[in-house]
Amino acid sequence: MEKLIMIKYGELFTKKDNLKLFIDKLYFNIKNKLSDYDVTIEKNKVRMFIDIKNNDEKIIIDKLKEVFGIHSIVVCYKTEKNIESIYSLSFDILSKLKFNSFKVETNRADKNFEFNSLEVSKNVGAYLLKNINNIVVDVHNPDLILNVEIRKDFCYIYTSSSSIKGLGGYPNGIQGKGLLMLSGGIDSPVAGFLSMKRGVILECLYFDAPPHTSMEAKNKVISLAKILSNYGSNIKLHIVPFTKIEEEIYKNVDPTYMITIMRRMMYRIAERVANNIKAKIIINGESIGQVASQTLSSMFCINNVTNMPVIRPVSCLDKLEIIDIAKKINTYEISIMPFEDCCTIFVPKHPVINPNLHKCIGLESQIEYEKLIDEAVNNIEIIDVNSYEFINCDLL
Ligand code: ATP
Ligand code: MG
Repeated sequence: MEKLIMIKYGELFTKKDNLKLFIDKLYFNIKNKLSDYDVTIEKNKVRMFIDIKNNDEKIIIDKLKEVFGIHSIVVCYKTEKNIESIYSLSFDILSKLKFNSFKVETNRADKNFEFNSLEVSKNVGAYLLKNINNIVVDVHNPDLILNVEIRKDFCYIYTSSSSIKGLGGYPNGIQGKGLLMLSGGIDSPVAGFLSMKRGVILECLYFDAPPHTSMEAKNKVISLAKILSNYGSNIKLHIVPFTKIEEEIYKNVDPTYMITIMRRMMYRIAERVANNIKAKIIINGESIGQVASQTLSSMFCINNVTNMPVIRPVSCLDKLEIIDIAKKINTYEISIMPFEDCCTIFVPKHPVINPNLHKCIGLESQIEYEKLIDEAVNNIEIIDVNSYEFINCDLL
């Protein structure tokens, strides 16, 4: 039996005009993902087939589970396109499995095949009933479905139990670049993951404020970026020295407005970096109402410093929904490590929840922020997260 892994594309079908582009991108991403393994990959308009040769099936499937644009991953068997071969392969597959009831579903892409779909299903079903003891057909609620796909050159057969859900979404890279404001928290890595799911390539931006924030906090962000890079390509992390700006805000600004002003500075810097790296959007982990700086009035005031689109993928999710995703994508355990980030250092007792834009502008005139922003942007450290090695760090 010739065993293959079949990739179903899912949502890509909705992109008729760009289908070739999408499939080529997915093919490229899968090839990249499996570059350490000796496999061959064939693609056509509806399916991809991977011959995994002597590689461990589980390892390859786990890798494929991290690739966006895959609807499902199916272990299937290939045979010649004639009814006798289909009978014999169906028997070989089902005779090894334990089940009571089954049904056969046929998809006949090649309309010249000698039997239509219904006839194939009926004939294969009858053959199996005759040759395997103690099984019955149940078309409504079977224990197992045997799928027969008759395509241009070959026929592919698999069972419902051998289909694994993929990540879905669009192939990473199909949409160009976005800049993710990545803190060490739970929300921003999830926001990054969700934007990657729509095909966005990420670079990340972290505001670092030593000595108020620790090396561990920075390492945590690097680890999170490393995890995100598993779902796409290598990620560049831009680390902004933010201490001076924070200290100026702390010295000069009404404490209730400190966070609002700090976030306006972050957005200004994010816009500058995004322009420098040719990213078209800023992405962050803000969620409506979660904290004082994320009320609608706060978002209005903070967003006012940039015209660049700010995408907030988790803006309408509950914290528990965000946590659920964080657990699935393996960022949660790192996010909950207890290191302060720069937003939690200067938390005022009563941050404003309805900030006034004119007041923000007035308060900012007390700080020479343009100069400070220039200095911060000019001193950004850029890390290639894939090749970054932690030194003296037991935690991550
Ligand atoms: P998260 O759990 O992602 O940190 P949060 O609930 O802590 O989010 P805030 O601290 O208010 O929320 O920050 C909102 C968003 O602003 C974050 O999700 C992130 O996108 C961005 N952000 C906050 N702090 C930083 C930082 N130090 N560096 C980069 N981005 C940051
Ligand atoms: Mg945070």
